Amino acid sequence: MEIGNASSHLKPLKCKKRSKRENIESKKDFQAFWKKDLLLDSKHFIPQLNQVSSWTEEMKKTIENWPSADNKGKFYQIMPRLFDMLGGKNDFERFINFFYHLDRDIDKDGDIEKIRKFNDMIISELDKVSCKMDDWETQHINREDEVSLLETFPLYLCPTCKSFISEGQFVSTDCFCGESISRSRDTEKRSFKKLNSTLYDLVNHNWHLEYAFGRLLKKLSFDSVSCGVDVLGSSGINHEIDVIAEDKSKEKRAFCECKTENINYNHLLKFNQQCEDIGVNYKIFVSTGDISSERERRFANTYNILLVDNFWNPEKGMERVKNEIEGFIRTE
Ligand SMILES: [Zn+2]
Repeated sequence: MEIGNASSHLKPLKCKKRSKRENIESKKDFQAFWKKDLLLDSKHFIPQLNQVSSWTEEMKKTIENWPSADNKGKFYQIMPRLFDMLGGKNDFERFINFFYHLDRDIDKDGDIEKIRKFNDMIISELDKVSCKMDDWETQHINREDEVSLLETFPLYLCPTCKSFISEGQFVSTDCFCGESISRSRDTEKRSFKKLNSTLYDLVNHNWHLEYAFGRLLKKLSFDSVSCGVDVLGSSGINHEIDVIAEDKSKEKRAFCECKTENINYNHLLKFNQQCEDIGVNYKIFVSTGDISSERERRFANTYNILLVDNFWNPEKGMERVKNEIEGFIRTE
């Protein structure tokens, strides 16, 4: 891929887009989501996105560690709320022992009742979280948007004791309550919602920061924006640039580095070297954290790097971030 074309005086870059980014960006729902500017809503959407992502993580762990016929006693990682509901550490350990020593052919009604109660608790927690996510999606997305923030997934449960059988696809099983389940229609099928996998990936890799910043530059004076690109420097070394933004008519090109930690001197040193090796007219360093000290400000001033700190801090607000960038581009 080459960024920079014949009609522009920007020197073409020898670069390669990272394939995972290419995959994400080629998805229609991602593009629609990106254009909705939700990633620039630092007041409501961003804090909630982080919350929903951690709920999704909890759900995944709970389902992975849900005790079942093949997965006895490996449920240390279920939702913390369930842990509390089971009476804290001592009762929890007793409970694990109960599952661990459970015999495959138990027929005691009391045991099945106990298992069902436990499973009901898990199901109702999953339900609660799933409903909260649903409300969140309705809050931000209209029906005509063609964007979804969530995806639905089915769980197959034992009709007798409500134990977990499988997620997504039915798998035949001998449940530890004694029920032998070989057809999906003999199960209880329940549907839940979680953050869709594209958004989940974005958040977990911290790529959403790059796409948020890229979106902001696109709304300012840059007409082309690309995230996650390897660019060849004069030294022959490839550098990963988080965001490249260009305004071809005005011959502007910006490289941006995005971090979710405080901006420190070593970050800046490395970023500056990469920019020098490739050659660029605007250098922007973005962070959701603070600037560590005066030293970083001095370095940035000397080498003409714009530092954007507290990017998603609702106290700071997107307007101020916008003004900082516009001021920097004007003064050049
Ligand atoms: Zn069962």
